[in-house]
Amino acid sequence: MARLKIDYGIDLGTTNSAICRMDKGEIKVIKCDTTDDTMPSCVQFTKRKGLKIGKTAYNAMKSDKRSATKTWKSEDSNIFSEFKRKMGTDATYVGSYMDKSFTPEELSAEVLKNLKSFVSDEEVKSVVITVPAMFNINQKDATMRAAKLAGFEYCELLQEPIAAAMAYGMDSSRKDGRWMVFDFGGGTFDAALLTVKDGIMQVFDTEGNNFLGGKDLDNAMVDRIILPYIKDNNNIEDLLSDPERRNILKSALKTYAEEAKQQLSFKQSYDIITNLGDLGEDDDGNEIELDMTITQEQIQDIFSNVFQEAIDICNNLLSRNNLDSTSLDKIVLVGGPTYSPILRNMLRINFGDIVDMSIDPMTAVAKGAALYASTISNEVSQSVSVEDVELLLDYESTSVETIEFVTIKLKDCSLSRKFNAKIVRADGGWASDSFVLTDKGDVVDCVLQEGRANNFEISLYDEYGNYIPCFPREFTIIQGAKVGSAILPYNFGIEIWDEENNKAVYKSIKGLEKNKSLPAVGIEKSLKTSNEIRPGISSDFMKIPFYQAEYAGDGLPAVYFSYVYEVKLTGENLPALLPAGSDIEISIKIDRSEQISMDIYIPLLDYTEEVVVPRNTVQQTVSDAYILNELDKADSELARLRQDGLDIAQLSYKLEQVRQNFKDENEKEKVLKGLRSILQEAARFDKVNDWDRINKKLDAALKMLIEDNKKYGDEESTSQVNELKKQVEAVKVSKNIPLAKDLLDRMHNLNYKLAMLEYFIAWISGWDKRYDIINWRNKIQARKLIDEAKLLIVNNPSVEMLKPIVSDLIELLPRTEMPRGAEGLLSVS
Ligand code: ADP
Ligand code: MG
Repeated sequence: MARLKIDYGIDLGTTNSAICRMDKGEIKVIKCDTTDDTMPSCVQFTKRKGLKIGKTAYNAMKSDKRSATKTWKSEDSNIFSEFKRKMGTDATYVGSYMDKSFTPEELSAEVLKNLKSFVSDEEVKSVVITVPAMFNINQKDATMRAAKLAGFEYCELLQEPIAAAMAYGMDSSRKDGRWMVFDFGGGTFDAALLTVKDGIMQVFDTEGNNFLGGKDLDNAMVDRIILPYIKDNNNIEDLLSDPERRNILKSALKTYAEEAKQQLSFKQSYDIITNLGDLGEDDDGNEIELDMTITQEQIQDIFSNVFQEAIDICNNLLSRNNLDSTSLDKIVLVGGPTYSPILRNMLRINFGDIVDMSIDPMTAVAKGAALYASTISNEVSQSVSVEDVELLLDYESTSVETIEFVTIKLKDCSLSRKFNAKIVRADGGWASDSFVLTDKGDVVDCVLQEGRANNFEISLYDEYGNYIPCFPREFTIIQGAKVGSAILPYNFGIEIWDEENNKAVYKSIKGLEKNKSLPAVGIEKSLKTSNEIRPGISSDFMKIPFYQAEYAGDGLPAVYFSYVYEVKLTGENLPALLPAGSDIEISIKIDRSEQISMDIYIPLLDYTEEVVVPRNTVQQTVSDAYILNELDKADSELARLRQDGLDIAQLSYKLEQVRQNFKDENEKEKVLKGLRSILQEAARFDKVNDWDRINKKLDAALKMLIEDNKKYGDEESTSQVNELKKQVEAVKVSKNIPLAKDLLDRMHNLNYKLAMLEYFIAWISGWDKRYDIINWRNKIQARKLIDEAKLLIVNNPSVEMLKPIVSDLIELLPRTEMPRGAEGLLSVS
């Protein structure tokens, strides 16, 4: 059957995936492996270079985890899961049996292909794939690439909470209002707030935790119930004190815990019983055996603790929107763990009787995706049978009215043919009168059933009453649900040079705040170049790095946010000399598909540069060394604050915990997230403007300036220093904070000018020391430059001699290593 609409929806989940399609206005879940509604997002390569996907791969992973306890070695398994977490990054998965590495999108493509293979009665060319509301552009682009790799000719993305809401919305009697989607998955939790007005659905705020999900329930069950049971029956002291063996044991036990957890959603108790030979031996050489019963009661408190974290996130999300549970009309449940009666009960207590459990939480997203897909025209060329009379239809495929006008006419106007036509609603509840169809067309008022997908069949007859096949033969109009315009999932900002604090910081762009409707335009007119750009010179440049931020963190170092792209304008682009301090106006446009483009206008030259941000960039994943380095930097940052007299005991404690996490689990992203939140808090602390702190800073800055002036100064600088000194004395009397900050700024600038050589030498020696940890853009080149600089340094170089080398080295640094004074950034006037 050629399809007029996309009709297929896929939930490409971190843990499980599902595929649904619309058939004559009904949603159908396509069975995976003949019986299951969903399929594990799991890919396995076998020793004989075979490929196994879904349940088979998942089961193999499970048995590998269990049998690893027999050798206490984790084998290189070639089974991959949770690659959705790495979408849009440069992470790779080494398939040693295949002698090849795989990107997250290649593995995702295998999952997509497998889902597609379960459709046995037609070829699927177009699809709607869902993505988390918080997915950024890189992640969405990677998903599109996966769809391409899986052979889909056309793909549209839809946000998971919208999909879920559509699935729930269709059946719902209470349609309007404010909804919350509660999506507790295998390893991620997402909460989304939506408005539903006249059936039009729009996400207006989201929050989540990428490290909270069903896995935490499994983990808690292992720690609190299964391990204590084993300790009662076996000697495992030694085993547990060895991190590697402990991890292997816990991984194996989690597979049992997961089975128990799933059963306990529907049963009062569950028996975990292992067979002889399933697990390895304890410290005394006795086999570890499980023969235990786990009850609802036992898991009540343990699970509640985990679920409470999700409920806290919901409460935060509500309160930051000035809402509470009474302002919600409906909560819809998504994700396997939401089957849990413990959770359902907690939600009812917390939010009242608005929790909707009417739809299967494991397939809700895929169902909604299919519903949405049935409203999008299939863009792929159709193979229409030659006998079919082709029709042209025009109508709104989603509607909040109860009557929809459908225009229908013959496509081919060269033959002056005419037919008798009739449109019948598939449920038989309505039919049009018979009408004459020509190439001039007719408008038919089709009557819709409320709150559902209405499927209509078209029949044509010739003048003798013979049935004539036509294309399309049917169409669908969804009544009562419509997807509102897309919104920005993050705040957008750029990195600028903060003259006042002498560091590179994030600046949000007005008009590009999180949750703005797309298309959106952001404008910033107060920028200035910080260096001169000579026409035709490629080493003179300005740069505008772009970031996505979860919140408007103006003034914080931009490295805390997620880097998107850097626009660079060199002298080669410019028609004439652009002096330092020139005005720059930028406008950034983000269209409905989140394509970003930027206009840089230079009033002085009346020149505009237009840049379209390419869409296939990936984010770099970070190395262990990088994280260790960041942890050390955080340590010294906190030490500095402590010296400044701030009470940061709590932050120090948190940092220690984060460090612990890193040793324990090797969860890089989790560590990084914790680290960033600490540094952000520290930065906020640092911004406290009480006079005592500024006073100390004034003293320190003045002292340093006087010393540096002694070493490097001349007559002119000495008089400048003296002038500054007088002003410092005056401001100490007036205690005027803005004035004091301005002074600090001027002292820093003069200091920088005086001691530039010292700065350069310090930077070079720092880079030299940390050469191995720094993720240089070109390692060999960096080595060469550093060595060259070191040679110069021993021979009393001038600033002019070192400057070109330093600026070349800065170019080779990854963004996260930029020193103070990074070149090319714009500043705010
Ligand atoms: P994702 O969105 O991450 O792909 P899913 O919504 O498929 O995740 O949820 C997977 C999680 O749901 C796993 O932790 C799994 O153990 C859990 N799960 C599946 N079925 C049940 C059940 N009946 N009761 C409780 N948890 C379940
Ligand atoms: Mg999911």
